[in-house]
Order: sequence, then structure tokens, then C-alpha cells
Amino acid sequence: MMNEEEVAEAINEKFREGVRKWMDEEQAKRDKAIFHVSSFVYGCIRKVWYEEKYSDKIAPVDEEGLLRMWIGVKLHETPITDWHETPIWIDFPVKSFGGRLDEIFEIDGKKILIDKKFVNKLPISMNDHYFKQIMYYAALLLYSKEIVVDGVGIHYMLPTVSYKSVKREQTFVKFVSKKEILETGEEIKRMVYSLLSHLETDTLPEPKRSWYCDYCPYINSCNADSLEYISKDVFEAVK
Ligand code: SF4
Repeated sequence: MMNEEEVAEAINEKFREGVRKWMDEEQAKRDKAIFHVSSFVYGCIRKVWYEEKYSDKIAPVDEEGLLRMWIGVKLHETPITDWHETPIWIDFPVKSFGGRLDEIFEIDGKKILIDKKFVNKLPISMNDHYFKQIMYYAALLLYSKEIVVDGVGIHYMLPTVSYKSVKREQTFVKFVSKKEILETGEEIKRMVYSLLSHLETDTLPEPKRSWYCDYCPYINSCNADSLEYISKDVFEAVK
């Protein structure tokens, strides 16, 4: 017969199983006909290439990562504006590029596109890669719905509320011009056409090394291969 600790651990395991099942269902729902905005945020087309070629071989997300994703998705569920979770995309040959925007606020006559982020520590400014991500959404909105936003921003939140005196949220907003949004649209086109060309010719794009590499599920293959194309057999051997 199990003792109390063993029963408690068995319950923990049931929770983990539930979250793992949720993750599997989320991944199965992911639209494979779309290059997702989130894949491009760190600026490395090589990573997206690996995702396209070997998506079924990604190392499983660890328990901590799984829980983080689950909390993030659950905290995104509450709609704040009518635009909540609106799908937007641009069509390219073979696949589209798109995602779901979080919210658009109308403040003082200005349309402000906002992405929500749940973090352990509030930053002192908007992170560059999140700014890039929200600009991709601004460009998608312009191309797909002909809506020009006046600003973009990130609303950061701490998902836990431990002490009343601790600040729990911080929003950063940046006004942007139509010209900047159009330039971002051109950047999207360059990235997607380059990726499509590398996928078609089965050649590996140049790596774009950054702090993100330490978190990239393909780092072993990418490092093993350095700058040259890696065959599927070699990938299998080093993964
Ligand atoms: S390890 Fe870095 S350079 Fe290599 S694919 Fe991943 S993000 Fe790109």
C-alpha cells in the first residue's frame, strides 16, 4: 500500500501527465501550412529550416519548459479587447506566414497593437526581439487587413502575486510610422523567400548566432555542422 508521500507523488505525476497531454494536443492543432511569427523572432532562419525539416525530431520540452508554456497559454486565454487572438497572415508560395495577435487598444484616438508576456521579472525596457515580433504583427495587419497601427507595445505581467507592494505589470509602447511597418513587411518577405529557397534546394541557411542559441533545440546539430549543410544521416547521428 502507498504511503502519503507516494500518493502525493502519484498525484504530482497525474498533473504532469495532464500538462503533457495538453502540449501534445496543442502541437497537433498547430497549423503546418503556416510559418509561425514566433519561429522567426530570434532572427535565425536556420532554426526555422531545422523546424521544417526535422520538426518530428525536436528534443522533448523539459517539465519546467512545459509548465512555463502551459501557464503562458492559460494566462493568454482571457480576452481584453475585441481583437483578442485574431489570426492574421500573408500568403507566400507553398506556405503562409502568420500568427494570432494578442490585442489592439484604442487610446486617445490611436490604435496600439499589444503583445502580452508573462515574465519572472519585469524588464526596464521593451526587449528587442519582442519589439521585432510585435512589428511583424503590425506588418501582417497592414498586409492582411489594411490596418495601420499607430503604435506597438508589450504588456509584461508577473503571473504570481506574492506581495502587494511589488509591481506586477509594466507596459511599454512605441509609436511607429507606416514606413517602418512597410520596411518590416519587406524584411518578412526577404526572410520567407530565403527560407523557401533553402528548403527547395535542401541547403542549410547561414546560422545567426545569439544568446538564443543556448536555448535552441537544434544547437547540437548546428554546432556539429558549423557552416555547412548537414545531411539527414549526420543529423540522425548527432541529434
Ligand atoms: S543554434 Fe543558434 S545559429 Fe544554430 S540554428 Fe539554433 S539559433 Fe540558429
